[in-house]
Amino acid sequence: MIRADLHIHTTFSDDSKTTPKDLIEKLVAHPSVKVAAVTDHDSIKGIDPVRRLAKPYSDILIIPGVEISTPEGDILVLGAEELPPKPWTVQTVVDFAKDHSYVSVAAHPFREWGLGELTMTSNVDAIEVLNGSSSAQANKQAVELAKTMKLPGVAGSDSHQPSELYSVYTEIQASMDVDEILRAIKKGLIAVSQTEKSIRF
Ligand SMILES: [Zn+2]
Repeated sequence: MIRADLHIHTTFSDDSKTTPKDLIEKLVAHPSVKVAAVTDHDSIKGIDPVRRLAKPYSDILIIPGVEISTPEGDILVLGAEELPPKPWTVQTVVDFAKDHSYVSVAAHPFREWGLGELTMTSNVDAIEVLNGSSSAQANKQAVELAKTMKLPGVAGSDSHQPSELYSVYTEIQASMDVDEILRAIKKGLIAVSQTEKSIRF
């Protein structure tokens, strides 16, 4: 079992203060979260710098990814090392993820820039049910939505500064391998956690 923060913004997002170095240092120092997904806004430029810094450490793993801003709301694409073809709509981004065996996630569905009820018809692979910068109420609504849609629920800090990194995480029944992790998420072999309390979906 591994623990992963599946939603992180670096300085390659306009609104984040977390440098690739911050991300790696905190990941190396963390007692249990050892996997981090780089999901900058509409950019994949942070992936290589973060991976380069991760290289000397055998006990941490970086999942490439991106958070795409569609007019309808934000969608995380876990596994992606390139941007989806434009125009970016819910349909094109979700299809791009399916074509490449990536994982599409409705990010913070009930917060600003979330898909909201549109998630129901979006065909995403998973729903972010525990977002570190959403209210408890918005996360609870997301949990209910995941149950209704029978989709896996993932957790990510959505951190924009170092102090917010790894505030929440997803427990995944997989080894330290990106493809295995992506497959396990789709199969729902996951639980989300904040502090010591764990909720299973
Ligand atoms: Zn985000």
